[in-house]
Order: sequence, then structure tokens, then C-alpha cells
Amino acid sequence: MKAIILLSGGLDSTLAAELMSREGLELLAVNFKTPFCLCDRHSSNLGCGSNARRVAEAIGIDLKIINATKDFLDVLKKPAHGYGANMNPCIDCRILFFRKSKELMREWGASFIITGEVLGQRPMSQFRRQMNIIEKEADLEGLVLRPLSAKLLAPTIPEKNGWISRERMLDIAGRSRKPQMALAKDLGINDYPCAAGGCLLTDPEFANRIRDLIKHDELDMQNIDLLKAGRYFRLSPSAKLIVGRNENENKMLSMLAKDGDYLFGPATINGPIAVGKGAFTADLLEAACRIVARYSDRDGEPKAEITHERLPENEKISIKANFLDDDELAKLRV
Ligand code: SF4
Repeated sequence: MKAIILLSGGLDSTLAAELMSREGLELLAVNFKTPFCLCDRHSSNLGCGSNARRVAEAIGIDLKIINATKDFLDVLKKPAHGYGANMNPCIDCRILFFRKSKELMREWGASFIITGEVLGQRPMSQFRRQMNIIEKEADLEGLVLRPLSAKLLAPTIPEKNGWISRERMLDIAGRSRKPQMALAKDLGINDYPCAAGGCLLTDPEFANRIRDLIKHDELDMQNIDLLKAGRYFRLSPSAKLIVGRNENENKMLSMLAKDGDYLFGPATINGPIAVGKGAFTADLLEAACRIVARYSDRDGEPKAEITHERLPENEKISIKANFLDDDELAKLRV
């Protein structure tokens, strides 16, 4: 019997994959790539899907990584079921992933879908009512098996048809990860890099920035990458500044800057690189230089020489900038 398993590479989906593989099912794992996955952000440079890849290899199942970014950004701009506590459109996100999994199910000749979801673990998408809505809108009613909580949920078609034994399903519920950790120990799974999974959209600070991008109709991949690479300032409805916090972020910002963007940095002292995007008037260029001066090593001096250049012209213009004080800074920081 063939089934598709949604595999993020977090602990819950790893457990579900291991359990169902032991049931003798022929599994195809699918991992959905979005710009907001925290698991892969913290993994060691292996790229998106790296944790899922590692899990799939360890269990011995094939993995398909689907880049869902474009569809996900459409959902994120206007989710039909709204957002969770921050900017996480969990219900619409699950509907999108389930619909795509259903297409894969048909292509691959699989009979149902498996997830590592745990009843009551996430308030927006893992309560019974929301699970039912998601299944219904993805046209997958009865075809989603959640082995970690299956005994607490209505029997699915795979259980009713005897494709899988309901008796051997589990009854885990709630937010504690202890039962999953105990189960991992029993199954001999010691390497789960991202126990809680994670999505940047549930982070309040990051969510504010995403909200700001959506409000200004600027939600695209370059802007999202910039948000992850520094402090974020909204200087006007059409201009923003991202300031690096360390050497890595400075390098990242230099790489992400495109033609038409502005690059800022101190002329002679140590300090951050900043990228300005949008329409910069002389006043805004000066404001940006003052922000960069604030984060530079001025050695107690009120002013610092800051350069700005517009790409790709590369003509550097220097300004002696008075640093912006913290109250003024706070008004611009998103
Ligand atoms: S937390 Fe993020 S990835 Fe997870 S369901 Fe919600 S929006 Fe989707």
C-alpha cells in the first residue's frame, strides 16, 4: 500500500514516518519549501529540506522537495481563514500543502496521506474543527492519517478499510513534547535537530516586518531575504533600510543588494553595511546615514563619515552624519 507522508524533518513527522515505515507501507515523503522554515535555517548549511532529507535517508524512503514559495506568498498576502497569533496563516497553509500532496498522491498512485500532526498541539491548525476544515477544503476527507493522535480522532478510510491497524495507532495530544521524546527514545531516534519544528511567521518581531511588507505591497523574495539579514527601518511609505548586525549579515546584505538599491557604510571606522530600497530623497539619504552612524564605532564622537552609493553606479558620496538617537530610532524601527 502506497502513502504520501508530509515530512518537515521535525520530531513529529520523523516519528510518524518511522512508525508508518515499520507498518510496511511504501512511503513517498514530501517536503514543502517556503522561505519561513526555522528548522533548515538552523541546520548546518545543507539548504532547505536538509533535515527532511536526512530523516528520509535514515528511514530509507524517497523524498520529493516541492518549492511552494510562490503559492505560499499568495496565501500569506490574503489568507481566506486569517492569521494565527502572528502572521502565520496556518489553516490556508495546510490546505495548500494538502492540495499539493493530493496531486502527488494521484501521480504516484498512493491511497492516502500521512502527517505528524498532533491533536491540540498548535492552536490554529491542529484542533479537530480546523483539521476537518483543512481536509474538506483540500478534498481529502477521511484520507489523512495522523498516526500520533489517530486513536483520538475519527477513524480514517485507511483504518476503516484495514489498510492500517487502528490498534497500533497512538493517542498523543497537547503541546508537551515529552511523549514524542519518549517515543523517539523507544524507536532509537536520537538525532532530531528541530524538536519543535518552527516557522518564522510565528515570531512576533518577524511578523511585524512581514506585515509592513504586505502593507506596502512589497512581499517578494528579495525583501523577505533582506528582513532576515538585519535591523529593519521604515523611513517612508516607499523607502526602507536594513542594517547588518554582524559580519555575516553585512556580507549577506552586500550580496542581496540589487541594481537600484543603495549601499551605506562607514568610510573610515568599523560599522555596519546597510541596504536602502525604494525612493530616497536627500533627507532620507541623510536619515539612513545617521542610522548607520548610530551603529558604527564612533569612539564617543557624535559624528561619523558615512558613504552611500546607488548600485550599479558605484559612485560613493560621503556625509558627515550625526548619529540618530534611540528615541528617533525607535520611531522608525519595525
Ligand atoms: S506555522 Fe507556518 S508552516 Fe506551520 S502551518 Fe502555520 S504557516 Fe504553515
